[in-house]
Amino acid sequence: MYMISIYADACEGCGQCAENCPVNLLSMEGDKAVVSGEPTECMGCETCTSVCPEGACHIQEI
Ligand code: SF4
Ligand code: SF4
Repeated sequence: MYMISIYADACEGCGQCAENCPVNLLSMEGDKAVVSGEPTECMGCETCTSVCPEGACHIQEI
């Protein structure tokens, strides 16, 4: 099982993670990406970590 978190301080608001998450778990709140569902709904696909230019998406295996 995986858990996603977004480091708000690092997020620059490009929106790429929210646009590309296959389970629509991430969304934008103003200029920050947020986890908009249960963090453990993350599939661990690494799409968000790949597209994020700031290293703000963190996947944890739990
Ligand atoms: S790892 Fe994949 S499923 Fe998890 S939040 Fe990122 S894009 Fe979505
Ligand atoms: S891809 Fe990274 S910088 Fe862009 S909105 Fe998502 S967390 Fe923020």
